[in-house]
Amino acid sequence: MTQPQHTGGRVNVLTKPAVIGSIEELRSRLTDAQSRIESARAGRGEAGLGRPRIVLVPTMGALHAGHLTLVRRARSLGDIVVVSIFVNPLQFGVGEDLGSYPRMLEADVAALAAEGVPFVFAPTSQLMYPDGAASTRVVAGAVGSLFEGAARPGHFDGMLTVVAKLFNIVGPDVAVFGQKDAQQVFLVERMLADLNFRTCIEVVPIVREDGGLALSSRNRALEPAQRAAARALSAGLEAAASVAAQGVGAALQAAHARIDVQPLVKLDYLVVVDPRTFLPVGGEHHGPARMLVAALVGHTRLIDNVALDLP
Ligand code: AMP
Repeated sequence: MTQPQHTGGRVNVLTKPAVIGSIEELRSRLTDAQSRIESARAGRGEAGLGRPRIVLVPTMGALHAGHLTLVRRARSLGDIVVVSIFVNPLQFGVGEDLGSYPRMLEADVAALAAEGVPFVFAPTSQLMYPDGAASTRVVAGAVGSLFEGAARPGHFDGMLTVVAKLFNIVGPDVAVFGQKDAQQVFLVERMLADLNFRTCIEVVPIVREDGGLALSSRNRALEPAQRAAARALSAGLEAAASVAAQGVGAALQAAHARIDVQPLVKLDYLVVVDPRTFLPVGGEHHGPARMLVAALVGHTRLIDNVALDLP
């Protein structure tokens, strides 16, 4: 494994990131990297910049350009980037795609090497859940059982639990999340505030392929006709945003008009929420809002969202 190289204030690698599957090793490598950056800074007379900042990008792997956008943002936010790759069993329900979720660690590591990521934390389930599952869990609260949480009971408790564990393992100053998972972002922000975490989060806009479909590791499962049909989701959201000035009803109608005509797209929910509460808004809502959509295309569950400005 290539050792991280320290140039300037940032840790770079010549070839491959260190792929680490042990908590102790990760912590000691991070402490070591921080000390080396501090010494390098002191050598350049740059002491006083504070402890080098660790930035975490939590992922489930099968990385695509959306994830890599998060990684690039992470690099701009701190000194040492850690990407975690862990398909968290706790956030998958019975009958969901835990077994078939794409796993491609080697290709992921190659993609992260090209981005100059020094550390990949890729724990096993055994390491994260030595007793088979965590008996202490974070409870997502009322918003955790709406929308994605209604379709996937326990999903957000499992997601928050692993995020809390990763934050305690890595100790990041900042963690980077994607706006694509808007409910996840809302719930993580709430957990950080409610439980007084020191980590803050940065949110990156949704990265889309040509044609508008939001990038997702699950898109790999789409056949060409399904992929074409799935574009109705982003097209619907775009249509909604373009008529948002006419109100919530018009926005919903515009989105339905694009989505409901696609027989391959089985709509689960299409809602407009208040970003402050993540609760559905009434027809008279004014100000910022977010439209959320989820649908099944074949066996693949897809989600997307867009900001609406309701005057
Ligand atoms: P996942 O591997 O699906 O758990 O995603 C890891 C992180 O990447 C999450 O914060 C996601 O919201 C983010 N992400 C996934 N797809 C996209 C996308 N198309 N655009 C922006 N962020 C994304």
